[in-house]
Amino acid sequence: MMNPINSKLPNTGTSIFTTMSALATENNAINLGQGFPDFPMDESLAALTQKAIGDGYNQYAPMAGYPALRESISEKIKFLYNTTVSATDCITITPGGSYAIYTAFTTILRPGDEVILFEPAYDSYTPNILVNGAIPIRIALEFPNYSINWDKVKLAINEKTKAIIINSPHNPTGSVLSHEDILMLSSILKDTSIYLISDEVYEHLIFDDKQHNSILKYPDLFKRSFVCFSFGKVYNCTGWKLGYCVAPKPLMDEYRKIHQFDAFCCFTPSQVALAEHLKNKNSYLSLSKFMQAKRDFFVSCMKETKFTLLPSFGSYFICATYEHISDLPANEFSIELTKKQGVATIPVSAFYMDGKDDKVIRFCFAKKEETIIEATNRLQELSR
Ligand code: PMP
Ligand code: GLN
Repeated sequence: MMNPINSKLPNTGTSIFTTMSALATENNAINLGQGFPDFPMDESLAALTQKAIGDGYNQYAPMAGYPALRESISEKIKFLYNTTVSATDCITITPGGSYAIYTAFTTILRPGDEVILFEPAYDSYTPNILVNGAIPIRIALEFPNYSINWDKVKLAINEKTKAIIINSPHNPTGSVLSHEDILMLSSILKDTSIYLISDEVYEHLIFDDKQHNSILKYPDLFKRSFVCFSFGKVYNCTGWKLGYCVAPKPLMDEYRKIHQFDAFCCFTPSQVALAEHLKNKNSYLSLSKFMQAKRDFFVSCMKETKFTLLPSFGSYFICATYEHISDLPANEFSIELTKKQGVATIPVSAFYMDGKDDKVIRFCFAKKEETIIEATNRLQELSR
């Protein structure tokens, strides 16, 4: 008989996305929980991938990624952010954004290091930190606009602080960091050796003419940063699990030492396809408008319900309070909504390590119009 494993994550259960998607399936509910589109991905990108398979691109890609894709990413970064990053030294293709972030943590963290993160936080950050023996230092975003109180950040920094992780546009709240926020972060980190991990998977899903303030635009910050992206979120193919990390050469050299003995490399045909597809600027420049229209449609359909929507300036998501419907805690309310109303959502309390509950739930609006109409019709039936 084997002894039970001395768990590295004793207090971690099954992810909320798995739990709510399973509950949605079980109850035949419309899934506005886990963040994935229910409409087809771009046909031309799919065709390019099929072509790459037919053309025989089916063996291992180079460890850092298919070179032409890294070149296309480097050109895109120059075009969007006016920053030159070496395709050879500073970009690594990864199996998804989550992996890009995990590898960044694993590259820099040692037991006892502290990492500052902001809650509600994407659910992988805290377990990633804990599994590396480090300590998450959690700062709550200011409810209800979910902004960062930078004075709290200054107070949290000490000699053990190894890294800060930021995420803009933000999952789950759709809040966006402003240029002033980034300047504040830059001044706080200026004379420190703290690393920055910037989760920018929603870089192209930003609304109301807001600009994405990528860390790639700020040389003082970029020199200490791992900037992480996901093609799944850009091209509505979350199941591809393909992303990349951009970092200065000395950081990337260490990053690749971890990556080469973990994934080593990623699915080759999609990399070949994306190398070509990225050259079409419209393929990413059109996305914000497309997704903003979905947000606006969702917001207009929700007017007939008793939910109070919070603002969303980016991502796939919008949050809502439900004080006119129920007093239940958010997790119980989400379960009830799935079972009784047939609409699955995500309780925002799941994005806090201690389950802090402001009675907020998250909706994913990256859905077909008919899905949004059917789901919001079901939600209209709710009142106290
Ligand atoms: N970061 C955030 C904020 C996310 O919402 C997600 C989920 N897509 C990821 C990272 C992970 O991206 P991927 O699915 O490419 O691993
Ligand atoms: N990023 C997606 C979300 O926030 C889910 C990813 C996952 O299921 N791990 O819903």
